[in-house]
Amino acid sequence: MRRFTYVRPRTVREAVRAADQDTRFLAGGTTLYDLMKLDVERPATVVDLTGLRELRAFDTSGRRELVFGALAPMSDVAEDRRLVRDYPALAESLQQAASQQVRNMATVGGNLLQRTRCPYFRGGEPYACNKRRPGSGCDAIDGLNRGHAVLGGSAACVAVYPGDWAVALGAFDALVDVAGPDGERTLPVAQLHREPGSTPHIETALAPGEIVVRVRVPTTPLGRASTYRKVRDRESFAFALASAAVAVRLSAGRVAEARVALGGVATRPWRAPEAERLLRGRALTPEAALAAGRAAFAGARPLRDNAYKIELGAQTVADALMIARERA
Ligand code: SF4
Repeated sequence: MRRFTYVRPRTVREAVRAADQDTRFLAGGTTLYDLMKLDVERPATVVDLTGLRELRAFDTSGRRELVFGALAPMSDVAEDRRLVRDYPALAESLQQAASQQVRNMATVGGNLLQRTRCPYFRGGEPYACNKRRPGSGCDAIDGLNRGHAVLGGSAACVAVYPGDWAVALGAFDALVDVAGPDGERTLPVAQLHREPGSTPHIETALAPGEIVVRVRVPTTPLGRASTYRKVRDRESFAFALASAAVAVRLSAGRVAEARVALGGVATRPWRAPEAERLLRGRALTPEAALAAGRAAFAGARPLRDNAYKIELGAQTVADALMIARERA
């Protein structure tokens, strides 16, 4: 066990002040503890946010927006009756994440920031990994890459963003409020995660010392006709091989508006505007749904072991659209 300084602030301002470059913020701990035990994360200071009780609340009754404090437990949000009824894609993305025990501990803010499951990243020093040690290389590109990204990768990193909730939030144009040394600011969830480019160790748009304080989702009638569909190796507890969050609004039997977002296939939560454009004005038939799924993967670049994700992902989008059609 490496030694570190432990800080337990009482306010967001205290939390932000306690942070420096070598700080990690602790929420549910379901990612951070794991990575510290693997010696992948080596923080000098851990700032424990769990005492910030004001960040545990969430409210799904608002007329203009749904508001989720960053420390709201995933399990509480996943089971919220209004969310299940009015925004099933959001609820389902949480219900299908991890296990009940993990969801009881994990928070909706921490979940946004979970790190990749790439085995070369988690495996530690024997492996080259630009994300863990910048400039060391990437053992996944010519290695075992069945689980890696077909969208958004670079010559430096092809690791998949592993989360579900951020994918569903992306379909609803959610906003993320963050607090840092310079005060609060808001960014679209679509801008929170970065593609790896040449700096895969920089995963988000958060500046050092910034924390997510809440997530807001603008209310929309598309919510009810939505779903999150996830395909994985084990239904009980596994990360997505491919997933899709979709929402539709139909008018006179045709698609007036569609939202399509992808998980498990890209280096960040991935919105698919090509698929959304293709659906607009068309009858939502199985053929149209599959064409939209294929359009979503038009720019895919497979590696040696993961070309299957292109067809799997397209079929996942198509299946999700058929479920959404039933709910429209
Ligand atoms: Fe590291 Fe990314 Fe390569 Fe995985 S894919 S080994 S996380 S650089």
